[in-house]
Amino acid sequence: MRILLDRQSDASLYQQIYTHFRQGILSGSLPPDTRLPSTRQLARDLGVNRITVETAYGDLEAEGLVASKIGSGTYVLPPSPQLLIPVDEPDGPWPLWQRDLQAQGDLPGKNHLEEAAKSGSHPNPIAFAGGIGDPRLFPVDDYRKVIQAVLRRDGMAALEYGERNGYAPLRATIAHVLASQGITVRPENILVTAGSQQALTLVCQLLLKPGDTILVETPTYAGALDLFRLFHLKIVGIPVDGHGMQVEKLEKILQHQHPKLLYTIPNFHNPTGTCLSTPRRRQLLALADRYNVPILEDDFVGDLRYDGRTQPALKSLDPGGRVIYTSTFSKMLMPGLRVGFLAVEGPVYEGLVNTKRIVDLATSSLHQRAIESYVTVGSYQAHLRRTCQVYRRRRDGMVLAIHRHLPGEVQVDPPQGGLFMWLRLPDSLSTQKLQPLAVEEGVTFTPGHSFFPYSPDGEAYLRLNFAMQPPEAIEEGMRRLGKAIRKAAALPQDHSR
Ligand code: PMP
Repeated sequence: MRILLDRQSDASLYQQIYTHFRQGILSGSLPPDTRLPSTRQLARDLGVNRITVETAYGDLEAEGLVASKIGSGTYVLPPSPQLLIPVDEPDGPWPLWQRDLQAQGDLPGKNHLEEAAKSGSHPNPIAFAGGIGDPRLFPVDDYRKVIQAVLRRDGMAALEYGERNGYAPLRATIAHVLASQGITVRPENILVTAGSQQALTLVCQLLLKPGDTILVETPTYAGALDLFRLFHLKIVGIPVDGHGMQVEKLEKILQHQHPKLLYTIPNFHNPTGTCLSTPRRRQLLALADRYNVPILEDDFVGDLRYDGRTQPALKSLDPGGRVIYTSTFSKMLMPGLRVGFLAVEGPVYEGLVNTKRIVDLATSSLHQRAIESYVTVGSYQAHLRRTCQVYRRRRDGMVLAIHRHLPGEVQVDPPQGGLFMWLRLPDSLSTQKLQPLAVEEGVTFTPGHSFFPYSPDGEAYLRLNFAMQPPEAIEEGMRRLGKAIRKAAALPQDHSR
């Protein structure tokens, strides 16, 4: 073990050793049950007398921070809460550059969605705030078997960086899956990424610079808004209705704002659940082409359709190089795999591959191989079918529960797929008013303002994830939400909207 001892210091060597361990224990970096090095070993490592170390350990023990077990060693005890050093507290002031950062407000803010998911002190909270499917449906056993089989089959190769643009058989498999959805791309035009969040990031890094204008649907995916803010982009919104982005409002904006990119979620839009109609898809593509604006199509849950007719992906209408398409295995399979992909043709492809290489070298070779196996043997397709059946029932259950438990003035337009239901509250209500009451009742949702580029828009809306909870929890959750809405409506009038 290395401890930096200052032999010129006024503090004695034993005090320095004592202070080092005390700090570690109270800051949590040495958690309870950690075994300290033996006195003999530490004395040898530090070049000090063994008694020096024994004295330091003795003081720690006297303070109740460690206990020695005869014949076993010295172990960290759980420190009393009053002594704990807050994680964020330095010994002195933060260095000037850190204080400047804080003062300039240049640090990315907290995640709205994680904040919304906090459920207060209710003993049995029901969460509808997350952005993923139900982890109870993750095919953990099947995936474990696939990982083992891949390691047996590929050995070391499965743990190398692998090809920069992704594992070739996985790219071929993705191209095959896309072909079944009417999207014709060659494996050479697919780039495997660390989830579609990285796909969005790479496109921003390559195509945009601070101050550039990006067009988005309003509302839109909060994680994309956070990313665009991080890149200091000017975010311009195009409103969404029951048929997706209101493309008829687009031309004027294209003329006046000269955007560098248009980001869209045409299928089961996050957060509204709507799908862009086919005529609007064609119109959007024609306009983007006329005004020379690349489209970034985020198809994050395209495969989770429960009813209705599939519309053509923008990418499938693209004669080549106009649409940068991204999708992910996060929602249809598991988010922790961190595997998604981009599909695009033209010189931009090579640019994206090289940006990815510079940013993180490669996406996990092992997971890429495992997913390829999983898809190829048909397990993925079977999992998807099962998942769609379960989520369809949950969506239907939530619609019924909403009608049963929520006031009639709450508006909802059930989606044909995906994960989310978008609710509009009665006119006198805002989510600001509703949220603390809902948390008190033991139910969480994502407030609408998280999905708008500029607050206080969206206060009238909330997003519910209908896929996350089993039917009984959906029923009980909507009962609690209904109660919270009635309580909020009984409060004095809210003029904040
Ligand atoms: N796009 C949308 C619309 C999303 O909702 C999310 C995650 N919630 C992502 C992209 C990113 O997902 P991932 O990086 O896990 O693929």
